[in-house]
Amino acid sequence: MTSSAVYVLAGLVLVLWLVRRWRCRLGSGERASRPRELANAELIYMEKLFRIEEPIRLVAKVDRVYRLPGGSLVLVELKTRRQDRPYLTDIIQLSAQRVAIEHQTGEVVEPVAFVTVLGPTSRRRWQSHQVRLLDEGQLIALAQRRRATLALRTDPAYATLVRACVGCAFRARCDRPE
Ligand code: SF4
Repeated sequence: MTSSAVYVLAGLVLVLWLVRRWRCRLGSGERASRPRELANAELIYMEKLFRIEEPIRLVAKVDRVYRLPGGSLVLVELKTRRQDRPYLTDIIQLSAQRVAIEHQTGEVVEPVAFVTVLGPTSRRRWQSHQVRLLDEGQLIALAQRRRATLALRTDPAYATLVRACVGCAFRARCDRPE
């Protein structure tokens, strides 16, 4: 074997080793953050964009999508945050992802999903929270109300929970009673 062939072979071995290492890391990271309930599910999408025009225009990027043994899909949203809990915004985000996937692919997406949270200090302990999603009608109504509010065709409502106002950038200009 010539010396250049040896170099090519060594390069190939190195590339294969790096790819294998990268796959192992990816796999263990995914496994560490996977909800227990999806232990037997198959990971089918990671960080994938879905785009639909009907029934509403939506662009939704999913973190993870799993296929259950029965064939339906389950969404998982990963979050790094101080509070170990899901927010209403997570539910809206996941509901939009569900509508986008169902209309783009024709697949059935389960009405429950997971918000998986990693605290800022815990490096390996993900906590998964199961959430029930809005149905398509609720999501469309929400999108229409948002559009009408931005176009000043309807009055905005106060946040349902007072604690949502803590730290709100509009607090100084908002007329919500203290
Ligand atoms: S301060 Fe006003 S604008 Fe901000 S969340 Fe509360 S109700 Fe909404």
